[in-house]
Amino acid sequence: MAAAETDRDAPSALCSEFLNFSAKDAAAKWLLASNLPKEVYQHLACYVPKIYCLGPNLNPQNEDLLAQLLLQSPLEWYLCGEEPSVGLAKLEQNNQPSQLCGHVFKVGEPTYSCRECAADPTCVLCMQCFLGSVHKEHRYRMTTSGGGGFCDCGDTEAWKKGPYCQKHEPNISDSSQKDPLANLSDEMIARTYNVFSIILKYAVDMLTWDKEDELPEGLEPPVRGDTYYCMLFNDEVHTYEQVIYTLQKAVNCTQKEAVSFATTVDRDGRKSVRFGDFQFCEQAKSVIVRNTSRQTKPLRVQVMHSSIVAHQCFALKALTWLGQIIRYSDALRRILCQVGLQRGPEGENSSLVDTLMLCDSKMWKGARNVYHQLFMSSLLMDPKYKKLFAIQFAKNYRRLQTDFMEDDHERVVSVTSLSVQLFTAPTVARMLITEENLMTTIIRTFMDHLRHRDLQGRFQFERYTAQQAFKFRRVQSLIGDLKYVLISRPTEWTDQLREKYLEGFDAFLELLKCMQGMDPVVRQVGQHIEMEPEWEAAFTLQMKLTHIISMMQEWCASDERVLIEAYKKCLSALTHCHSGFTDGEQPITLSMCGHSVDTIRYCVSQEKVSIHLPVSRLLAGLHALLSKIEVAYRFPEQLPLSELSPPMLIEHPLRCLVLCAQVHAGMWRRNGFSLVNQIYYYHNVKCRVEMFDKDLIMLQAGASMMDPNHFLMIMLSRFELYHIFSSADCRKRYSRENANKDVVQQNNTLIEEMLHLVIMIVGERYTAGVGQVECSDEIRREIVHQLCIRPMAHSELVKALPENENKETGMERVIDSVALFKKPGVTGRGLYKLRPESAKMFNLYFHHYSRADQSKAEEAQRKIKRQNGEDSVLPPPVLPRFCPLFASLVNILQCDVLLGILGAVLQWAIEPSGGHWSESMLQRVLHLIGMGLVEEQQHLAEDNDTNFNFTLKISRPGETPANTPSILALLETLQNAPHLEVHKDMIRWILKTVANIKTTRECTASAPPSDSSGHSQEETVRDKDKAERKRKAEMARLRREKIMAQMSEMQRHFINENKELFQQSLEELDPSTSSSLEHSPSSCDSSLVCVGPRRWRAGGSERRQVVTCILCQEEQEIRSDGKAMVLAAFVQRSTVMSKNRKRPPHNPDKYDPLFMHPDLSFGTHTGSCGHIMHSHCWQRYFEAVQAKEQRRQQRLRVHTSYDVENGEFLCPLCECLSNTVIPLLPLTKTSCSSEQPDLSLWLNITSQQSKAMLSAQRKTKAAGAEGVDEMDGVNDCPPPDGFKLDYTPKNPYSSTIKEMLTTFGTATYKVGLKVHPNEQDPRVPIMCWGSCAYTIQSIERLLVDEEKPLFGSLPCRQDDCLSSLTRFGSACWSVSSHTTVQNHFIRLLSALVPDPWVENTPCILDVDMFHLLVSLVLSHPAVFCLDSSGLSADTAQLHFLHLVTVAHIVQILLTSVPEEVQMEQESGGAEREEEEKVCMLYNTLRTHLGSSLCEVSSGWHLWRCVKTGILPYLRAAALFFHYLNGAPPPPELHTLGLGEWEALCGYLCLPSNLLQLFYSNQELMESLLHGWCSHPGVLQGLQSSVAVIRFPRESNHLIELPSDYSALINQASSFTCPKSGGDKSRAPTLCLVCGAMLCSQSYCCQTELEGEDVGACTAHTFACGAGVGIFLRVRESQVLFLAGKTKGCFYAPPYLDDYGETDQGLRRGNPLHLCQERYRKIQKLWRQHSITEEIGHAQEANQTLVGIDWQHL
Ligand SMILES: [Zn+2]
Ligand SMILES: [Zn+2]
Ligand SMILES: [Zn+2]
Ligand SMILES: [Zn+2]
Ligand SMILES: [Zn+2]
Ligand SMILES: [Zn+2]
Ligand SMILES: [Zn+2]
Repeated sequence: MAAAETDRDAPSALCSEFLNFSAKDAAAKWLLASNLPKEVYQHLACYVPKIYCLGPNLNPQNEDLLAQLLLQSPLEWYLCGEEPSVGLAKLEQNNQPSQLCGHVFKVGEPTYSCRECAADPTCVLCMQCFLGSVHKEHRYRMTTSGGGGFCDCGDTEAWKKGPYCQKHEPNISDSSQKDPLANLSDEMIARTYNVFSIILKYAVDMLTWDKEDELPEGLEPPVRGDTYYCMLFNDEVHTYEQVIYTLQKAVNCTQKEAVSFATTVDRDGRKSVRFGDFQFCEQAKSVIVRNTSRQTKPLRVQVMHSSIVAHQCFALKALTWLGQIIRYSDALRRILCQVGLQRGPEGENSSLVDTLMLCDSKMWKGARNVYHQLFMSSLLMDPKYKKLFAIQFAKNYRRLQTDFMEDDHERVVSVTSLSVQLFTAPTVARMLITEENLMTTIIRTFMDHLRHRDLQGRFQFERYTAQQAFKFRRVQSLIGDLKYVLISRPTEWTDQLREKYLEGFDAFLELLKCMQGMDPVVRQVGQHIEMEPEWEAAFTLQMKLTHIISMMQEWCASDERVLIEAYKKCLSALTHCHSGFTDGEQPITLSMCGHSVDTIRYCVSQEKVSIHLPVSRLLAGLHALLSKIEVAYRFPEQLPLSELSPPMLIEHPLRCLVLCAQVHAGMWRRNGFSLVNQIYYYHNVKCRVEMFDKDLIMLQAGASMMDPNHFLMIMLSRFELYHIFSSADCRKRYSRENANKDVVQQNNTLIEEMLHLVIMIVGERYTAGVGQVECSDEIRREIVHQLCIRPMAHSELVKALPENENKETGMERVIDSVALFKKPGVTGRGLYKLRPESAKMFNLYFHHYSRADQSKAEEAQRKIKRQNGEDSVLPPPVLPRFCPLFASLVNILQCDVLLGILGAVLQWAIEPSGGHWSESMLQRVLHLIGMGLVEEQQHLAEDNDTNFNFTLKISRPGETPANTPSILALLETLQNAPHLEVHKDMIRWILKTVANIKTTRECTASAPPSDSSGHSQEETVRDKDKAERKRKAEMARLRREKIMAQMSEMQRHFINENKELFQQSLEELDPSTSSSLEHSPSSCDSSLVCVGPRRWRAGGSERRQVVTCILCQEEQEIRSDGKAMVLAAFVQRSTVMSKNRKRPPHNPDKYDPLFMHPDLSFGTHTGSCGHIMHSHCWQRYFEAVQAKEQRRQQRLRVHTSYDVENGEFLCPLCECLSNTVIPLLPLTKTSCSSEQPDLSLWLNITSQQSKAMLSAQRKTKAAGAEGVDEMDGVNDCPPPDGFKLDYTPKNPYSSTIKEMLTTFGTATYKVGLKVHPNEQDPRVPIMCWGSCAYTIQSIERLLVDEEKPLFGSLPCRQDDCLSSLTRFGSACWSVSSHTTVQNHFIRLLSALVPDPWVENTPCILDVDMFHLLVSLVLSHPAVFCLDSSGLSADTAQLHFLHLVTVAHIVQILLTSVPEEVQMEQESGGAEREEEEKVCMLYNTLRTHLGSSLCEVSSGWHLWRCVKTGILPYLRAAALFFHYLNGAPPPPELHTLGLGEWEALCGYLCLPSNLLQLFYSNQELMESLLHGWCSHPGVLQGLQSSVAVIRFPRESNHLIELPSDYSALINQASSFTCPKSGGDKSRAPTLCLVCGAMLCSQSYCCQTELEGEDVGACTAHTFACGAGVGIFLRVRESQVLFLAGKTKGCFYAPPYLDDYGETDQGLRRGNPLHLCQERYRKIQKLWRQHSITEEIGHAQEANQTLVGIDWQHL
């Protein structure tokens, strides 16, 4: 290979040359040089290629070191004129640093902004500054940085208050005005200037160099070899997979290497993928290009000469170096800025900074990042040069943006993204507007990039290609820039600013003009549209511009002159847009009720109409602003209103609203979803402020300038309802209009909508300028109306309110005045509830309600009123007054046309027929009448204005046709109409109010009123109300019953699916019924003992147990010879109790699980939902599930939440995840003969039995193998009396039970060891006993942790599970090979009673005693069944218990006695005996083990250790024997507190002085003790450095979490991927079990697990949690549960904001704090082994979770 030959001198060969190099000498030479640049270049030309890029394997450390020595050091010497470390220290000392923090953010680092004080949301603080600032006490927002950007601490423009943190607080003797250069000597300045200009020029030249084989003048290397790099560049087009695949082909690398290449390319923007001679690299290039050019443009690849790459590497290094050097002194920084911005020989825009910017899009990502960083730490930190830089940036703006459009990199790596740093500084922005005309530049640049226009010059997005759509997305960043410029409004205006702003406003109007009328629609009749027209682009544009439009208006509002000018400009733009609005339309005359008006003939349903009217809407906004200013109150004639043509103003907004109404009425159904979506967004909170709201204002403005009758007639005409109301006999609509039902229905809806619009035009006064209100009144009213629907969480309210450009709703200022906050519990979230007194603001026709909102709010409000015993009527609220310009709007209420309309609708309601009328219509009419009355009352009350006389108008009979009844008369008639029950309360309210007003008028006119008639009326009202309420209650009851019936129907259906009958209700199926018989101890029985010959025995009736199958509903008694009943169960591996997470996983094929290590590093847990089935019912069910699943997989290829192939299923009743079933067994019958051997005798017999069995086995084995047998002692062991070795006991169980015994045993074995099922494996019974012991232990821990008593507090399902598990354990030997079980028993016993025949017995330090006890007891029946000598099994159990207990005491004394005893404590003597005895025992142990046990003389202390150490064991033993033998526990164990010890010992038949166990059999015990201690493992264990397990073992906790979430973010932001050398991790994820931080969801950290690539989390779960994991995804603030490779779900994090809400995804940014209760809940799920179950439920509830590739997380 060519590469090897061309490798140049290895660095080692260079060493001598390098050693002789003196930086000082080089610098001295330079000082004398006449042509310094040439000298330096020569130096670089010579050394750079010798240091960098010497071969395929780069060695960054080495390179950096050499670069420092040979390249940077001479520069520093030259610069300082002395030893650099000294010189730089001096510089730093003399420096007066600026007050800016300028900390540049890393990806994922937390940033903080203050909602109260930040000038705009881009102003942020780093964590350090934040913690030292005043804002931590304010309402702050927390986000994670996307990288780039810097801390604004110290920037006085960025903060309204508290701009400095403690650290950056300026000194009082502030000298910041002084030139920083004043501190520097002239020589120093000159030298710095020289170095900086040479190096910066060098770096710029190299980074912008585009030749592949040639270097700039003066840099050619002395020798030049044929060494090249094949350099791969990134783009945003090709995927990771494509790049990896291509690289493997092109450069013959492994997949791992390819991944690493691809990762680097993605991060740095380029990476050399091959080194060698030109041909060699060229070849790779052509393969890559060929492979990636099929569909897209190919990946960019260059073959570059190694010296070029070397210089580019050093150029980057040099820029970084510059960045470091200027940190020493603000003066150096200023010089660098000066050098950078100095104009070059080519004139304007030719400085080095300009050159870099203009080449930005040609550079690779890594280079861009480095120079952007340098800009940030230099130009942006220097106040003077920041402005100069901003000017250059603005000058180049158009070109930079154009380059960015062509470039395909993300914006963060484009220089254009620096705009946020420049434009958001108010003074800079202002300067750029006035001096560089920035607003206009931005807007024009934006327009340049949207070239597609229709014939009228409007934007056209219709036929966008993918590339244009891509460009459209990029061009939107310009709107962002415009927003930055506008974000801080000027406090003072100069003439120049006015001029430039208005110029920008003009440009903006040009933009809006291109949008006015875009995307018009035409109603489709007949055919449905063929293709949904494009609408999203236009709405995206509208949405992006929404804040800009609002800000434009706010700027205008801050200066009267600007406002008036802008208004004029906008008006003329609108006039221009609609210059031809009457073109081609025929003029017509409308007349009604004696009024007539001219208009045009135009039908929304027939002609083009557009929803986009930004120019009209901007004018509407300005109009409202104008109405606020003083001139409007005093001299409205001075306003440019005379030019207005009201009919023109209202025309287009009205068409738009009519369009909405018609869509509502179903007239536009054939236009498809595109239109529906547009209407939706038109009203949506994101758009409505600059769409719907402004249209309404425009109608109000227009109507206020017109005769109300004329306005209403035009409106009717546009609604296409004119013909209905204009005819003389309109009150007889039904007799006239016999059109088809659909049309009538449509017209009804249109009438409703039209009436609603009138209500809004008159009633919506909460916009400042329209009504006399403040901005806060508007927000308050929005909130009230949201909360009238229902109580809401903070985030829900935020979503329902419009946000301003700062993402603020202004809600916090007013919320407390209208709502009360209620904190959340362990689930759910905090809620705001409306204050009762605020409900009076409720307006049923609130303009932002959707129809659904409206009916919900109506129902809720009526309900509240009824609950308070009030009349449930919802009359219109009292409204604020209009501003003068809008004041005439109230006259609409009393104008003839409206009264005519109202009268007509009322008449229809009186004579309903054929659907020519609707209740909503009537309700709106009544509301309008109510509004008139409220208005009149208000006029009377406030200014005693009697001109507004609504009551008079409605009392007058109609004029045309003459003598029709008055509105009032109609209402009185309606009051008695039987079909209008619902509206009676409103009619009554109206009539009452009319009466009140009349009396007020009379009283103001003449005498005081008499209030007599009202009273009795009210009484009847109340009676009626009562009857009404009763009727409704009855209705509700019926509805409830119906729902219940439906629900049970669904349940039945569910069971039917399993072809079973379901006859009983769910409640009767409570699993507890099955076991309830066993509890209830005969309370006063003092001798409740659960083990041993004296134990409690169940009588026949107590043993009888009857259960019901959930599938067939049949009852069944549990009998050993009966049909098997089974319990759905879930077996899983567990590390919940592990004390050693570092223990490597066992080899599943070789692992011998007989002895559990006391570190409990992993176990097998069995849980159950407690639901019982017949085994045959279950089998049928499971087969059905299997079959269904197979069909489903073939058909859909979808996953389910359970894995059928692994035996998983969902419990048919509760859908709990299960993977096997446990058979239910009856209690074993035992009787006890009187005489039983004592411990030593019994032990003797037992060891004889063991020996006999062993020798018999060996004999058979030997006979099988050799025939002759020489083994010692084999023949010496005859069995003891009554022990029949050849006896085969009869299996007591029925065949179905045996089958189920095997099923569960195999399942436990398979899951516990992760092996394939093999029922013959000798480890099957061991795994079953182990699972029994482990499950009991974990439940014992859980009870302690939950502070619950040992008995009586377990849920039934756990109770049932444990009892069947233990009984199963005692029976499982019967389906295994008896010899195998006997052998297990012999080995188990030998751990306690050392037996020379048995090898490899563990030392007692390495055995978990409870597991040993359980295994001994459960394996013993296999031996016992051979015995007919009258020994009792109970005796054996008791002796096992005693032996193991003694062993455990010894184990505790060996391990758990701390070395230092603080204080001698003497007990009161009550336990004197125990203390003495334990001392004796301890000393005996010390005689055996000597100094490896420390000296402890305090008996009190030792006894304490034993007592606390052994308690968990005793408790677990009590549970075990309770479930095994069924003895009811003593009442003391049903409660917490004192007496537990004695009760436990009594129940377990142990002396309460446990030491007696030792001393009453001292001789035997001494010998056992000797045996235990002489096991070599004991000394080893005690002396080893590995910590021994101490007792009691503490319960495991999830890790401690910080209370402030940002601490976690900070921790995660400094976390780097462990595999890719210091890279930031994209998804840092914290294991909550062990605290490990992982690099999740990323290629770099994938590993192979069982032949599959898995992500870091999945891999970690297998080591840390035996497949189950609990993680916190830090960036997302989300808890992740994982189980195995395919299961997972997200879970709410335990962090809440002040409003009691979580923030999954960290979108809202409210400060988050740890909620201990919620964290404990997660911990409990974990300790209960419920994580997998939780995942199952989550996946069942949300099918999308099933599809996620959990294994890649
Ligand atoms: Zn800072
Ligand atoms: Zn600071
Ligand atoms: Zn603040
Ligand atoms: Zn059944
Ligand atoms: Zn169940
Ligand atoms: Zn990683
Ligand atoms: Zn972990």
